[in-house]
Amino acid sequence: MTTTIDGIANVNVWTGDGTVVHDTGVSVSGGRIAAVAPLPADAPGVLDGQGGWVIPGLIDCHIHLWGARTPHPVHWVVDPRLPNALRSVADVGKILRSGFTTVREAGGTLGPSLRQVIDAGDIEGPRVVPAYLGLSRTGGHGDCHTLPMAWVREQPFMALVTDGPANLRRAVRTVAREGGRWVKVWASGGVLSERDDPEHVHYGPDELAAIVEEAHAIDLPVGAHCESLAATYAAVEAGVDAIEHGFQLDEGVCQAMRERGVTLVSTLSVLQRYVRWEGPEISPEQRETSKRLLVIAEESLNLAVATGVRVAMGSDCFSEPMTPFGHSADELGYMRDAGVDAETCLRSATSVAARLVGMESRIGMVTEGRLADFLLLPADPRQDLDVVIRPERITAVIKDGRRVR
Ligand SMILES: [Zn+2]
Repeated sequence: MTTTIDGIANVNVWTGDGTVVHDTGVSVSGGRIAAVAPLPADAPGVLDGQGGWVIPGLIDCHIHLWGARTPHPVHWVVDPRLPNALRSVADVGKILRSGFTTVREAGGTLGPSLRQVIDAGDIEGPRVVPAYLGLSRTGGHGDCHTLPMAWVREQPFMALVTDGPANLRRAVRTVAREGGRWVKVWASGGVLSERDDPEHVHYGPDELAAIVEEAHAIDLPVGAHCESLAATYAAVEAGVDAIEHGFQLDEGVCQAMRERGVTLVSTLSVLQRYVRWEGPEISPEQRETSKRLLVIAEESLNLAVATGVRVAMGSDCFSEPMTPFGHSADELGYMRDAGVDAETCLRSATSVAARLVGMESRIGMVTEGRLADFLLLPADPRQDLDVVIRPERITAVIKDGRRVR
């Protein structure tokens, strides 16, 4: 059930870049913000905010919308796709109602289709900025190592498994053809992979350079999955626009990221989930590795913030129940608990995130002319970040001027 609103009265507004407007209102017209100024609470179509706080709709910069209900890559390849597609319809509804009005999808086949049906108003969900399939080298983090190669190539689940500059150029063109709005590349292995190693750099300098050149030539930004320091150096050197995860950073690479305007997409959540998960899906060794890496990742995040690197948040939700959809804002809590100030946490899900997805003139701020995506909260989120983190505390979610919760 959604209703169009004409505005919201009696609120304080945290606009998205640190500016606060007290005792004001937000008027809405044609799905856009017409003004941030006081308005009468008793006018028709106007919500009475009762002294609450308005902030921009949140943006999750790293999530996988493929309806997975198991963390095992083997299932992602061999399970029938249709039930998962239907589950993803439920997932995007949960994500929207939890306050996320935009998501940057980080690898999967469904992103462009979800974007299409959500934009058309056929189903309720956040605006989707899809990567479509990412690029993984043979035996990399986007491959499924224990299945026949032909199966993975025939039924790609999150990556085009491709090697060599010429093939990678074609892969970037395929991503664009299928509706991808950015290019995801796995430049290192991952913690949970069967046969790859997060410390290894995946793809050579010529391959990474070819991806970046080809993507930038058609205005697609590139985000590189990097769990190790060496991979992050290699990806930044190659000219990528974002480092996904970036668990291991040092001062040199943070300086380089700041100078080149490379965004760090923080995903402490995924390590937190592995550390806390008690089921057999995570082995004791994987849990220990995650615990060790989490300490380093928290230090790296603080170093990035202190250096002035732009930080955007990502939940890396990819499979229920281990990484539940509709709880993306847990990442903000993990960032806060690691020592990041509330203001930086909030920007990582609003103005900084909007810039990362190339929509900084349309979303991520509550200012005149932007799309009317915003949340009503019962308290100042800078003082009480839990009003954002715990979805049940959000009073209202508005997307495109319509109240969706
Ligand atoms: Zn991911």
